[in-house]
Amino acid sequence: AITSDDLPLFNSFAELPPAFYTRLMPTPLPAPYFVAASANAAALVGLDAAELANDDLVAVFTGNKVPPRAKPLSAVYSGHQFGVWAGQLGDGRAIVMGELKGPSGPMELQLKGAGLTPYSRMGDGRAVLRSSIREFLCSEAMAALGVPTTRALIVTGSDQGVLRETVESAAVVTRMAPSFVRFGSFEHWFYRDKPEELRTLADYVIQTFYPELAGDENPYKSLLAEVTRRTAHLMAHWQAVGFMHGVMNTDNMSILGLTLDYGPFGFMEAFNSGHICNHTDQQGRYSYANQPQIGHWNCFALGQALLPLIGSVEDTEDALEIYRPEFGRRMDELLHAKLGLTTFSEDDSALFDAMFKLMQDNHVDFTLFFRQLGNLRVDNLGNDTVIRDLFIDRVAFDTWAVAYRERLRAENSDDCVRKQAMDRSNPKFVLRNYLAQIAIEKAQQKDYSEVARLLAVLEKPFDEQPGNEHYAALPPDWASHLEVSCSS
Ligand code: AMP
Ligand code: MG
Ligand code: MG
Repeated sequence: AITSDDLPLFNSFAELPPAFYTRLMPTPLPAPYFVAASANAAALVGLDAAELANDDLVAVFTGNKVPPRAKPLSAVYSGHQFGVWAGQLGDGRAIVMGELKGPSGPMELQLKGAGLTPYSRMGDGRAVLRSSIREFLCSEAMAALGVPTTRALIVTGSDQGVLRETVESAAVVTRMAPSFVRFGSFEHWFYRDKPEELRTLADYVIQTFYPELAGDENPYKSLLAEVTRRTAHLMAHWQAVGFMHGVMNTDNMSILGLTLDYGPFGFMEAFNSGHICNHTDQQGRYSYANQPQIGHWNCFALGQALLPLIGSVEDTEDALEIYRPEFGRRMDELLHAKLGLTTFSEDDSALFDAMFKLMQDNHVDFTLFFRQLGNLRVDNLGNDTVIRDLFIDRVAFDTWAVAYRERLRAENSDDCVRKQAMDRSNPKFVLRNYLAQIAIEKAQQKDYSEVARLLAVLEKPFDEQPGNEHYAALPPDWASHLEVSCSS
Protein backbone atom coordinates (compact mmCIF):
# COMPACT_ATOMS: atom_id res chain seq x y z
CA ALA A 1 0.00 0.00 0.00
CA ILE A 2 1.17 3.50 -0.80
CA THR A 3 1.82 5.83 2.13
CA SER A 4 2.29 9.57 2.31
CA ASP A 5 6.04 8.97 2.76
CA ASP A 6 6.44 7.39 -0.63
CA LEU A 7 4.08 9.53 -2.72
CA PRO A 8 6.42 10.40 -5.64
CA LEU A 9 5.42 14.06 -5.71
CA PHE A 10 7.28 16.73 -7.64
CA ASN A 11 6.27 20.28 -8.59
CA SER A 12 7.32 21.81 -11.90
CA PHE A 13 5.42 25.03 -11.22
CA ALA A 14 7.60 25.50 -8.11
CA GLU A 15 10.65 25.75 -10.40
CA LEU A 16 9.31 29.08 -11.66
CA PRO A 17 10.59 32.21 -9.88
CA PRO A 18 8.87 32.92 -6.54
CA ALA A 19 6.92 35.87 -8.02
CA PHE A 20 4.42 33.36 -9.44
CA TYR A 21 3.31 31.82 -6.16
CA THR A 22 3.72 31.68 -2.42
CA ARG A 23 5.11 28.59 -0.76
CA LEU A 24 3.02 27.82 2.31
CA MET A 25 1.57 25.07 4.47
CA PRO A 26 -2.08 24.06 4.43
CA THR A 27 -4.01 24.67 7.66
CA PRO A 28 -5.11 21.38 9.26
CA LEU A 29 -8.77 20.64 9.94
CA PRO A 30 -9.88 18.79 13.10
CA ALA A 31 -10.58 15.03 12.81
CA PRO A 32 -10.84 14.71 9.03
CA TYR A 33 -12.80 11.87 7.47
CA PHE A 34 -13.22 10.30 4.06
CA VAL A 35 -16.24 11.35 2.00
CA ALA A 36 -15.71 10.09 -1.55
CA ALA A 37 -13.07 9.25 -4.13
CA SER A 38 -13.01 8.68 -7.87
CA ALA A 39 -11.36 5.47 -9.05
CA ASN A 40 -11.07 6.88 -12.59
CA ALA A 41 -9.26 9.98 -11.36
CA ALA A 42 -7.07 7.89 -9.05
CA ALA A 43 -5.98 5.74 -11.99
CA LEU A 44 -4.77 8.88 -13.78
CA VAL A 45 -2.14 9.40 -11.10
CA GLY A 46 -1.36 5.76 -10.39
CA LEU A 47 -3.28 5.64 -7.12
CA ASP A 48 -5.78 3.06 -5.92
CA ALA A 49 -9.11 4.60 -4.88
CA ALA A 50 -9.57 2.06 -2.07
CA GLU A 51 -6.32 3.23 -0.47
CA LEU A 52 -7.48 6.82 -0.52
CA ALA A 53 -9.85 6.06 2.36
CA ASN A 54 -7.03 5.22 4.79
CA ASP A 55 -6.25 7.70 7.55
CA ASP A 56 -2.80 8.51 6.23
CA LEU A 57 -4.01 9.62 2.79
CA VAL A 58 -7.13 11.29 4.20
CA ALA A 59 -4.75 13.38 6.31
CA VAL A 60 -2.69 14.22 3.21
CA PHE A 61 -5.71 15.23 1.13
CA THR A 62 -7.13 17.36 3.91
CA GLY A 63 -3.84 19.21 4.27
CA ASN A 64 -3.18 17.81 7.75
CA LYS A 65 -0.06 15.92 6.71
CA VAL A 66 2.36 17.23 4.12
CA PRO A 67 4.24 14.42 2.34
CA PRO A 68 8.04 14.75 2.44
CA ARG A 69 8.37 15.43 -1.27
CA ALA A 70 5.49 17.91 -1.50
CA LYS A 71 6.20 21.57 -2.27
CA PRO A 72 2.87 23.14 -1.38
CA LEU A 73 2.14 26.50 -2.99
CA SER A 74 -0.65 28.87 -3.92
CA ALA A 75 -0.46 30.68 -7.25
CA VAL A 76 -1.09 34.35 -7.93
CA TYR A 77 -3.40 35.49 -10.71
CA SER A 78 -5.78 38.31 -11.54
CA GLY A 79 -8.84 38.51 -13.74
CA HIS A 80 -11.94 40.09 -15.13
CA GLN A 81 -15.00 39.28 -13.04
CA PHE A 82 -18.37 39.81 -14.75
CA GLY A 83 -16.61 41.86 -17.40
CA VAL A 84 -14.89 44.20 -14.96
CA TRP A 85 -11.17 44.23 -14.18
CA ALA A 86 -10.88 42.88 -10.64
CA GLY A 87 -7.12 43.14 -10.06
CA GLN A 88 -5.29 40.52 -8.05
CA LEU A 89 -7.19 37.39 -7.00
CA GLY A 90 -5.06 34.24 -6.73
CA ASP A 91 -5.55 30.88 -5.04
CA GLY A 92 -7.49 32.09 -2.04
CA ARG A 93 -8.21 28.63 -0.71
CA ALA A 94 -6.39 26.26 -3.07
CA ILE A 95 -2.96 24.78 -2.40
CA VAL A 96 -1.07 22.70 -4.96
CA MET A 97 0.72 19.84 -3.18
CA GLY A 98 2.68 18.79 -6.22
CA GLU A 99 2.36 16.57 -9.24
CA LEU A 100 2.05 12.84 -9.68
CA LYS A 101 2.89 11.10 -12.92
CA GLY A 102 0.30 8.82 -14.40
CA PRO A 103 -0.24 6.96 -17.65
CA SER A 104 -1.22 10.15 -19.53
CA GLY A 105 1.38 12.45 -17.99
CA PRO A 106 1.83 14.51 -14.85
CA MET A 107 -1.14 15.91 -12.96
CA GLU A 108 -1.05 18.66 -10.35
CA LEU A 109 -2.91 17.83 -7.17
CA GLN A 110 -4.63 20.86 -5.74
CA LEU A 111 -6.35 20.90 -2.36
CA LYS A 112 -9.31 23.29 -2.49
CA GLY A 113 -10.43 24.49 0.93
CA ALA A 114 -7.10 23.82 2.67
CA GLY A 115 -6.91 27.12 4.53
CA LEU A 116 -5.90 30.75 4.27
CA THR A 117 -3.35 31.89 1.70
CA PRO A 118 -1.91 35.34 0.95
CA TYR A 119 -4.62 35.56 -1.73
CA SER A 120 -7.62 34.84 0.51
CA ARG A 121 -8.68 38.52 0.61
CA MET A 122 -11.96 38.57 2.59
CA GLY A 123 -12.43 34.79 2.39
CA ASP A 124 -11.78 32.19 5.06
CA GLY A 125 -9.74 29.80 2.91
CA ARG A 126 -12.32 27.07 3.36
CA ALA A 127 -14.81 25.18 1.21
CA VAL A 128 -18.04 23.60 2.44
CA LEU A 129 -19.13 19.99 2.02
CA ARG A 130 -22.02 21.01 -0.26
CA SER A 131 -19.92 22.77 -2.87
CA SER A 132 -17.08 20.26 -2.61
CA ILE A 133 -19.43 17.37 -3.43
CA ARG A 134 -20.87 19.38 -6.33
CA GLU A 135 -17.40 20.05 -7.73
CA PHE A 136 -16.35 16.43 -7.20
CA LEU A 137 -19.38 14.92 -8.91
CA CYS A 138 -19.51 17.37 -11.79
CA SER A 139 -15.80 17.12 -12.61
CA GLU A 140 -16.10 13.37 -12.95
CA ALA A 141 -19.45 13.58 -14.75
CA MET A 142 -18.05 15.99 -17.33
CA ALA A 143 -15.03 13.77 -17.92
CA ALA A 144 -17.35 10.83 -18.55
CA LEU A 145 -19.38 12.97 -20.97
CA GLY A 146 -16.18 13.55 -22.94
CA VAL A 147 -15.95 17.25 -22.06
CA PRO A 148 -12.45 18.59 -21.34
CA THR A 149 -12.26 19.25 -17.60
CA THR A 150 -10.15 19.33 -14.47
CA ARG A 151 -10.65 16.14 -12.46
CA ALA A 152 -11.54 15.42 -8.85
CA LEU A 153 -9.70 12.76 -6.88
CA ILE A 154 -11.13 12.82 -3.38
CA VAL A 155 -13.32 14.75 -0.97
CA THR A 156 -12.61 14.74 2.74
CA GLY A 157 -14.63 16.42 5.45
CA SER A 158 -14.35 17.77 8.98
CA ASP A 159 -16.95 18.80 11.53
CA GLN A 160 -15.39 22.25 11.74
CA GLY A 161 -18.06 24.82 11.06
CA VAL A 162 -17.73 27.21 8.15
CA LEU A 163 -19.94 30.26 7.95
CA ARG A 164 -21.82 30.86 4.73
CA GLU A 165 -25.52 31.86 4.66
CA THR A 166 -25.71 29.34 7.49
CA VAL A 167 -23.02 27.35 9.29
CA GLU A 168 -21.97 24.41 7.15
CA SER A 169 -19.27 21.81 7.62
CA ALA A 170 -15.81 22.07 6.09
CA ALA A 171 -14.49 19.90 3.30
CA VAL A 172 -11.52 19.69 0.99
CA VAL A 173 -11.80 18.59 -2.63
CA THR A 174 -8.58 17.58 -4.34
CA ARG A 175 -8.68 18.59 -7.99
CA MET A 176 -6.29 17.44 -10.66
CA ALA A 177 -5.15 18.95 -13.95
CA PRO A 178 -1.88 19.07 -15.85
CA SER A 179 -1.96 22.78 -14.98
CA PHE A 180 -4.21 25.27 -13.23
CA VAL A 181 -2.77 28.27 -15.09
CA ARG A 182 -5.62 30.56 -16.13
CA PHE A 183 -6.14 33.40 -18.58
CA GLY A 184 -5.96 35.59 -15.48
CA SER A 185 -2.46 34.32 -14.72
CA PHE A 186 -1.30 36.16 -17.86
CA GLU A 187 -3.51 39.19 -17.33
CA HIS A 188 -1.86 39.57 -13.92
CA TRP A 189 1.56 40.38 -15.43
CA PHE A 190 0.18 42.40 -18.31
CA TYR A 191 -1.75 44.75 -16.02
CA ARG A 192 1.24 45.02 -13.70
CA ASP A 193 3.37 45.95 -16.68
CA LYS A 194 5.84 43.12 -16.06
CA PRO A 195 6.82 41.85 -19.52
CA GLU A 196 9.58 39.60 -18.21
CA GLU A 197 7.29 37.63 -15.92
CA LEU A 198 4.73 37.50 -18.72
CA ARG A 199 7.32 35.93 -21.01
CA THR A 200 8.55 33.50 -18.34
CA LEU A 201 5.01 32.26 -17.77
CA ALA A 202 4.26 31.96 -21.49
CA ASP A 203 7.52 30.09 -22.08
CA TYR A 204 6.74 27.71 -19.20
CA VAL A 205 3.26 27.01 -20.57
CA ILE A 206 4.52 26.49 -24.12
CA GLN A 207 7.46 24.28 -23.15
CA THR A 208 5.48 22.19 -20.70
CA PHE A 209 2.02 21.91 -22.31
CA TYR A 210 2.37 23.04 -25.93
CA PRO A 211 5.89 21.88 -26.89
CA GLU A 212 4.77 21.45 -30.52
CA LEU A 213 4.38 25.25 -30.76
CA ALA A 214 7.86 26.09 -29.45
CA GLY A 215 9.48 26.06 -32.89
CA ASP A 216 6.83 28.21 -34.59
CA GLU A 217 7.77 31.56 -36.09
CA ASN A 218 5.74 33.34 -33.39
CA PRO A 219 5.09 30.80 -30.63
CA TYR A 220 3.08 33.31 -28.58
CA LYS A 221 0.70 33.89 -31.45
CA SER A 222 0.47 30.12 -31.87
CA LEU A 223 -0.27 29.78 -28.16
CA LEU A 224 -3.11 32.29 -28.38
CA ALA A 225 -4.49 30.60 -31.49
CA GLU A 226 -4.37 27.16 -29.90
CA VAL A 227 -5.97 28.30 -26.63
CA THR A 228 -8.63 30.15 -28.65
CA ARG A 229 -9.31 27.00 -30.67
CA ARG A 230 -9.59 24.84 -27.54
CA THR A 231 -11.83 27.37 -25.81
CA ALA A 232 -14.14 27.50 -28.84
CA HIS A 233 -14.36 23.70 -28.80
CA LEU A 234 -14.98 23.68 -25.06
CA MET A 235 -17.91 26.09 -25.46
CA ALA A 236 -19.39 23.87 -28.18
CA HIS A 237 -19.12 20.86 -25.85
CA TRP A 238 -20.83 22.77 -23.05
CA GLN A 239 -23.68 23.84 -25.31
CA ALA A 240 -24.10 20.32 -26.64
CA VAL A 241 -24.60 18.77 -23.19
CA GLY A 242 -26.53 21.75 -21.81
CA PHE A 243 -23.83 22.61 -19.30
CA MET A 244 -23.81 26.11 -17.83
CA HIS A 245 -20.70 27.18 -15.95
CA GLY A 246 -22.18 30.17 -14.19
CA VAL A 247 -18.97 32.14 -13.47
CA MET A 248 -17.00 32.47 -16.68
CA ASN A 249 -14.62 35.06 -15.27
CA THR A 250 -11.17 35.11 -16.88
CA ASP A 251 -9.65 33.70 -13.70
CA ASN A 252 -11.80 30.60 -14.25
CA MET A 253 -10.62 30.05 -17.83
CA SER A 254 -8.05 27.31 -18.18
CA ILE A 255 -5.02 27.86 -20.41
CA LEU A 256 -5.45 24.20 -21.40
CA GLY A 257 -9.07 24.66 -22.50
CA LEU A 258 -10.47 22.65 -19.59
CA THR A 259 -13.68 23.28 -17.68
CA LEU A 260 -12.34 24.87 -14.50
CA ASP A 261 -13.90 25.86 -11.18
CA TYR A 262 -17.27 24.26 -10.55
CA GLY A 263 -19.38 26.63 -8.49
CA PRO A 264 -22.93 27.64 -9.38
CA PHE A 265 -22.99 25.46 -12.50
CA GLY A 266 -26.09 23.72 -13.80
CA PHE A 267 -27.31 21.42 -16.52
CA MET A 268 -30.15 22.67 -18.69
CA GLU A 269 -33.46 21.04 -17.81
CA ALA A 270 -36.62 22.73 -19.22
CA PHE A 271 -35.02 24.36 -22.23
CA ASN A 272 -34.64 28.12 -22.11
CA SER A 273 -31.73 29.54 -24.04
CA GLY A 274 -31.63 32.54 -21.71
CA HIS A 275 -31.39 30.39 -18.60
CA ILE A 276 -29.11 31.79 -15.86
CA CYS A 277 -27.83 29.10 -13.50
CA ASN A 278 -25.97 31.45 -11.14
CA HIS A 279 -28.42 33.21 -8.83
CA THR A 280 -25.83 36.00 -8.32
CA ASP A 281 -25.61 36.75 -12.07
CA GLN A 282 -28.59 39.08 -12.31
CA GLN A 283 -27.73 40.46 -15.75
CA GLY A 284 -27.44 36.98 -17.22
CA ARG A 285 -23.94 37.64 -18.54
CA TYR A 286 -23.21 33.94 -18.21
CA SER A 287 -26.56 32.59 -19.42
CA TYR A 288 -26.63 29.49 -21.62
CA ALA A 289 -27.04 31.48 -24.83
CA ASN A 290 -24.22 33.88 -23.92
CA GLN A 291 -21.56 31.27 -23.14
CA PRO A 292 -20.09 31.04 -26.66
CA GLN A 293 -19.63 34.81 -27.03
CA ILE A 294 -18.29 35.13 -23.50
CA GLY A 295 -15.76 32.43 -24.36
CA HIS A 296 -14.69 34.65 -27.24
CA TRP A 297 -14.59 37.75 -25.03
CA ASN A 298 -12.36 35.90 -22.59
CA CYS A 299 -9.99 34.94 -25.40
CA PHE A 300 -9.77 38.66 -26.25
CA ALA A 301 -8.77 39.34 -22.66
CA LEU A 302 -6.04 36.73 -23.01
CA GLY A 303 -5.03 38.23 -26.36
CA GLN A 304 -4.74 41.65 -24.77
CA ALA A 305 -2.44 40.20 -22.13
CA LEU A 306 -0.29 38.35 -24.67
CA LEU A 307 -0.07 41.32 -27.07
CA PRO A 308 3.34 42.50 -25.78
CA LEU A 309 4.74 39.04 -26.54
CA ILE A 310 2.96 38.53 -29.85
CA GLY A 311 4.19 41.93 -31.02
CA SER A 312 1.38 43.27 -33.20
CA VAL A 313 -2.34 43.88 -33.03
CA GLU A 314 -2.71 42.26 -36.48
CA ASP A 315 -1.18 38.97 -35.33
CA THR A 316 -3.21 39.00 -32.13
CA GLU A 317 -6.46 39.59 -34.01
CA ASP A 318 -5.45 36.97 -36.50
CA ALA A 319 -5.12 34.35 -33.73
CA LEU A 320 -8.47 35.36 -32.22
CA GLU A 321 -10.29 35.23 -35.53
CA ILE A 322 -10.38 31.46 -35.55
CA TYR A 323 -12.81 31.45 -32.63
CA ARG A 324 -16.02 31.85 -34.61
CA PRO A 325 -15.32 29.31 -37.36
CA GLU A 326 -13.90 26.80 -34.85
CA PHE A 327 -16.90 27.15 -32.57
CA GLY A 328 -19.31 26.96 -35.50
CA ARG A 329 -17.68 23.90 -36.97
CA ARG A 330 -17.52 21.96 -33.70
CA MET A 331 -21.05 22.96 -32.71
CA ASP A 332 -22.29 21.84 -36.10
CA GLU A 333 -20.52 18.48 -35.76
CA LEU A 334 -21.92 17.95 -32.29
CA LEU A 335 -25.47 18.89 -33.33
CA HIS A 336 -25.31 16.57 -36.31
CA ALA A 337 -24.21 13.77 -34.00
CA LYS A 338 -26.99 14.59 -31.53
CA LEU A 339 -29.55 14.27 -34.32
CA GLY A 340 -27.92 11.16 -35.73
CA LEU A 341 -27.04 12.85 -39.01
CA THR A 342 -23.95 11.61 -40.81
CA THR A 343 -23.98 14.04 -43.73
CA PHE A 344 -24.14 17.83 -43.90
CA SER A 345 -26.78 19.79 -45.80
CA GLU A 346 -27.23 23.54 -46.20
CA ASP A 347 -30.70 23.39 -44.70
CA ASP A 348 -29.57 21.73 -41.49
CA SER A 349 -29.19 24.96 -39.56
CA ALA A 350 -32.85 25.74 -40.24
CA LEU A 351 -33.79 22.30 -38.91
CA PHE A 352 -31.69 22.91 -35.75
CA ASP A 353 -33.12 26.41 -35.25
CA ALA A 354 -36.68 25.12 -35.54
CA MET A 355 -35.85 22.37 -33.04
CA PHE A 356 -34.48 24.78 -30.43
CA LYS A 357 -37.45 27.11 -30.90
CA LEU A 358 -39.78 24.17 -30.36
CA MET A 359 -37.85 23.08 -27.26
CA GLN A 360 -37.96 26.64 -25.93
CA ASP A 361 -41.69 27.16 -26.60
CA ASN A 362 -42.51 23.85 -24.91
CA HIS A 363 -40.00 24.02 -22.03
CA VAL A 364 -38.78 20.58 -23.04
CA ASP A 365 -36.22 18.87 -20.85
CA PHE A 366 -32.90 19.12 -22.72
CA THR A 367 -31.43 15.73 -21.77
CA LEU A 368 -34.68 13.74 -22.08
CA PHE A 369 -35.48 15.26 -25.47
CA PHE A 370 -32.23 14.33 -27.15
CA ARG A 371 -32.14 10.87 -25.57
CA GLN A 372 -35.71 10.18 -26.69
CA LEU A 373 -35.04 11.50 -30.17
CA GLY A 374 -32.88 8.44 -30.74
CA ASN A 375 -35.97 6.23 -30.52
CA LEU A 376 -37.72 7.92 -33.41
CA ARG A 377 -38.05 5.79 -36.53
CA VAL A 378 -37.80 7.08 -40.04
CA ASP A 379 -41.11 5.53 -40.99
CA ASN A 380 -43.61 6.69 -38.43
CA LEU A 381 -44.98 3.49 -36.99
CA GLY A 382 -46.84 5.38 -34.30
CA ASN A 383 -43.84 5.11 -31.99
CA ASP A 384 -43.49 8.81 -31.16
CA THR A 385 -45.66 8.77 -28.04
CA VAL A 386 -42.90 9.20 -25.45
CA ILE A 387 -41.11 12.08 -27.13
CA ARG A 388 -44.39 13.68 -28.23
CA ASP A 389 -45.56 13.71 -24.63
CA LEU A 390 -42.64 15.99 -23.73
CA PHE A 391 -44.38 18.73 -25.74
CA ILE A 392 -47.32 20.91 -24.82
CA ASP A 393 -47.93 21.61 -28.51
CA ARG A 394 -47.79 18.12 -29.98
CA VAL A 395 -48.84 19.23 -33.42
CA ALA A 396 -45.86 21.57 -33.57
CA PHE A 397 -43.62 18.61 -32.71
CA ASP A 398 -45.27 16.51 -35.44
CA THR A 399 -44.57 19.23 -38.00
CA TRP A 400 -40.90 19.38 -37.04
CA ALA A 401 -40.70 15.59 -37.00
CA VAL A 402 -41.90 15.48 -40.62
CA ALA A 403 -38.97 17.68 -41.64
CA TYR A 404 -36.54 15.66 -39.49
CA ARG A 405 -37.72 12.36 -40.98
CA GLU A 406 -37.38 13.76 -44.48
CA ARG A 407 -33.83 14.75 -43.66
CA LEU A 408 -33.09 11.26 -42.30
CA ARG A 409 -34.55 9.65 -45.41
CA ALA A 410 -32.36 11.86 -47.58
CA GLU A 411 -29.29 10.14 -46.16
CA ASN A 412 -30.86 6.66 -46.02
CA SER A 413 -30.54 6.62 -42.26
CA ASP A 414 -30.90 3.20 -40.62
CA ASP A 415 -32.98 3.28 -37.42
CA CYS A 416 -30.84 0.81 -35.49
CA VAL A 417 -27.49 2.20 -36.50
CA ARG A 418 -28.65 5.75 -35.84
CA LYS A 419 -30.07 4.98 -32.39
CA GLN A 420 -26.83 3.33 -31.31
CA ALA A 421 -24.81 6.31 -32.52
CA MET A 422 -27.20 8.84 -30.97
CA ASP A 423 -27.04 7.07 -27.61
CA ARG A 424 -23.28 7.72 -27.58
CA SER A 425 -23.89 11.45 -28.18
CA ASN A 426 -26.97 12.08 -26.06
CA PRO A 427 -26.39 11.16 -22.43
CA LYS A 428 -29.17 9.58 -20.41
CA PHE A 429 -27.69 10.79 -17.12
CA VAL A 430 -26.41 14.26 -16.23
CA LEU A 431 -25.84 15.86 -12.82
CA ARG A 432 -29.22 17.46 -12.30
CA ASN A 433 -29.24 19.87 -9.36
CA TYR A 434 -31.79 17.82 -7.46
CA LEU A 435 -29.68 14.67 -7.72
CA ALA A 436 -26.70 16.51 -6.28
CA GLN A 437 -28.94 17.99 -3.59
CA ILE A 438 -30.20 14.58 -2.44
CA ALA A 439 -26.64 13.25 -2.23
CA ILE A 440 -25.50 16.37 -0.37
CA GLU A 441 -28.29 16.26 2.20
CA LYS A 442 -27.48 12.62 2.99
CA ALA A 443 -23.79 13.47 3.22
CA GLN A 444 -24.60 16.26 5.65
CA GLN A 445 -26.10 13.48 7.81
CA LYS A 446 -22.81 11.57 7.35
CA ASP A 447 -24.27 9.05 4.92
CA TYR A 448 -21.94 9.18 1.91
CA SER A 449 -23.44 6.22 0.07
CA GLU A 450 -25.54 8.35 -2.26
CA VAL A 451 -22.49 10.35 -3.39
CA ALA A 452 -20.83 7.07 -4.37
CA ARG A 453 -23.97 5.74 -6.08
CA LEU A 454 -24.51 8.94 -8.03
CA LEU A 455 -20.85 9.00 -9.08
CA ALA A 456 -21.20 5.44 -10.39
CA VAL A 457 -24.26 6.44 -12.44
CA LEU A 458 -22.57 9.55 -13.83
CA GLU A 459 -19.46 7.61 -14.80
CA LYS A 460 -21.54 5.82 -17.48
CA PRO A 461 -23.80 8.60 -18.73
CA PHE A 462 -24.48 7.02 -22.12
CA ASP A 463 -25.44 3.56 -20.85
CA GLU A 464 -29.06 2.56 -20.29
CA GLN A 465 -28.31 1.31 -16.75
CA PRO A 466 -31.44 -0.74 -16.02
CA GLY A 467 -32.44 -0.23 -12.41
CA ASN A 468 -31.08 3.33 -12.35
CA GLU A 469 -33.82 4.89 -14.50
CA HIS A 470 -34.88 7.17 -11.66
CA TYR A 471 -31.58 9.04 -11.99
CA ALA A 472 -32.75 10.15 -15.45
CA ALA A 473 -36.09 11.45 -14.19
CA LEU A 474 -37.35 15.01 -14.42
CA PRO A 475 -36.75 17.16 -11.36
CA PRO A 476 -39.39 16.88 -8.63
CA ASP A 477 -41.44 19.95 -7.68
CA TRP A 478 -39.30 20.78 -4.65
CA ALA A 479 -36.29 21.20 -6.93
CA SER A 480 -37.74 24.27 -8.62
CA HIS A 481 -36.81 26.24 -5.50
CA LEU A 482 -33.14 25.19 -5.60
CA GLU A 483 -30.82 28.13 -6.06
CA VAL A 484 -27.10 28.10 -6.52
CA SER A 485 -24.90 31.14 -6.11
CA CYS A 486 -21.20 31.99 -5.90
CA SER A 487 -21.28 31.16 -2.18
CA SER A 488 -19.30 27.96 -1.76
P1 AMP B 1 -14.40 31.99 -7.84
O1 AMP B 1 -15.57 32.89 -8.07
O2 AMP B 1 -14.76 30.70 -7.18
O3 AMP B 1 -13.62 31.78 -9.08
O4 AMP B 1 -13.44 32.72 -6.81
C1 AMP B 1 -12.89 33.98 -7.06
C2 AMP B 1 -11.76 34.30 -6.11
O5 AMP B 1 -12.21 34.25 -4.76
C3 AMP B 1 -10.58 33.35 -6.19
O6 AMP B 1 -9.40 34.10 -5.99
C4 AMP B 1 -10.83 32.42 -5.04
O7 AMP B 1 -9.65 31.82 -4.57
C5 AMP B 1 -11.40 33.37 -4.02
N1 AMP B 1 -12.23 32.68 -3.00
C6 AMP B 1 -13.46 32.15 -3.17
N2 AMP B 1 -13.92 31.62 -2.02
C7 AMP B 1 -12.96 31.83 -1.09
C8 AMP B 1 -12.82 31.52 0.30
N3 AMP B 1 -13.79 30.90 0.98
N4 AMP B 1 -11.68 31.89 0.92
C9 AMP B 1 -10.70 32.52 0.24
N5 AMP B 1 -10.76 32.85 -1.05
C10 AMP B 1 -11.87 32.50 -1.72
MG1 MG C 1 -12.12 30.55 -9.43
MG1 MG D 1 -15.26 28.91 -7.39
